[in-house]
Amino acid sequence: VAVAASAVTALVGHRAAEWDRAGRLPTEVVRKLGAAGQLAPQIPTRYGGPGWSSADTGEFTAHVGSLCSSVRSVMTSQGMAAWAVERLAGPAQAAELLPRLATGDTAAVAFSEPQAGSDLSAVTTTVAVDGDSLLLTGRKVWVTAADHADLFLVLARLGEGGAVVVVPRGAPGVRVRRMADPLGCRAAGHAEVRFDAVRLPAGSLLGDGGQSLSLLATTALTYGRISVAWGCVGILRACVAAAGEHAGLRHQFGRPLGRHQLVARHLAELWAAEQVATRVCEHASRCWDDGSTDLVTATVLAKYVSAGQAVRGAAAAVQVLASAGAQDGHPVARAYRDAKLMEIIEGSTEMCQLLLADHVLSRW
Ligand code: FAD
Repeated sequence: VAVAASAVTALVGHRAAEWDRAGRLPTEVVRKLGAAGQLAPQIPTRYGGPGWSSADTGEFTAHVGSLCSSVRSVMTSQGMAAWAVERLAGPAQAAELLPRLATGDTAAVAFSEPQAGSDLSAVTTTVAVDGDSLLLTGRKVWVTAADHADLFLVLARLGEGGAVVVVPRGAPGVRVRRMADPLGCRAAGHAEVRFDAVRLPAGSLLGDGGQSLSLLATTALTYGRISVAWGCVGILRACVAAAGEHAGLRHQFGRPLGRHQLVARHLAELWAAEQVATRVCEHASRCWDDGSTDLVTATVLAKYVSAGQAVRGAAAAVQVLASAGAQDGHPVARAYRDAKLMEIIEGSTEMCQLLLADHVLSRW
């Protein structure tokens, strides 16, 4: 993990701000990470992946998140796609797809639609059997990593149930249109993707299809949530570093900023936020690695706590740096915008609260 982390540090360097402003990651960066298996390090070794534990993947994800949330977002998408394949595909499909995802092909998860965000049971994209092939029609929005994706994993209706369909980017009828000016994670390659009567081989469904839409979504989201949660730990670590350094160096009223009690409180709360987020993520990863039945609740908790802490922590960091951090491109300014999106994706804060409340009600 340490070797991979220093390779990513060298690859990203100080270029995250430049990529954020340009709204695009260089293709070679994504390809390099993909070829090294670092976009989805949990893919098991039997499929040619690094086979890391969730705990190691989490620490690595936090490191990437501390450097660049857009790169981390691409990692989250690839990891979600790989996890969905691992959980839903048949053995032959897994043996075909996972080695590709472990060594360079990139994938994006296309679930959301204009009228189906939190409520994915409302998707209207349909896949239908047509002779010995499939026909896919629909429109997806906010697909992270679509810029570079070779494959899309598309949530669709199939008869009375649902299915996840694997769609090559180059299939006739697939159209990708970049989304302009996202609030944060600006270089993560978000796009709207249309599927106009896309004809696909019958083997393009993950598994046999026919599962419930919510089960399919939850499967992918479990990986997405833990990945985003660790990404938030990274955002917080970047904020602690920037605020701590600035508060030690800059003087006002004859002393370092950090020696004014109200600023010191920001530092204390920011560090506490990072520690709390780290602990809930470690707990979720332990559940993952131990195969605990508490996994789903632990990942929701990790995502909920970490995203909220990241939003508050990034705001505190901007406050400590004040004008020094108030410009587009500064790490804390980026963190401030990126963190807010973490409360929306992979189950918004409110959806997480509902799930956590369900957990309480089911037990007590
Ligand atoms: P809505 O569902 O319309 O919700 C609006 C507000 O109402 C939210 O605050 C929500 O919490 C609240 N709300 C909704 N229902 C309830 C309820 N029952 N009780 C209480 N509150 C409720 N989608 C993909 O498929 N793939 C991706 O890769 C992807 N990447 C994304 C990246 C970014 C940066 C963003 C912003 C979005 C991305 N999405 C992606 C879409 C994302 O999953 C949705 O934005 C998210 O599910 C919320 O849906 P929505 O935006 O339609 O909000």
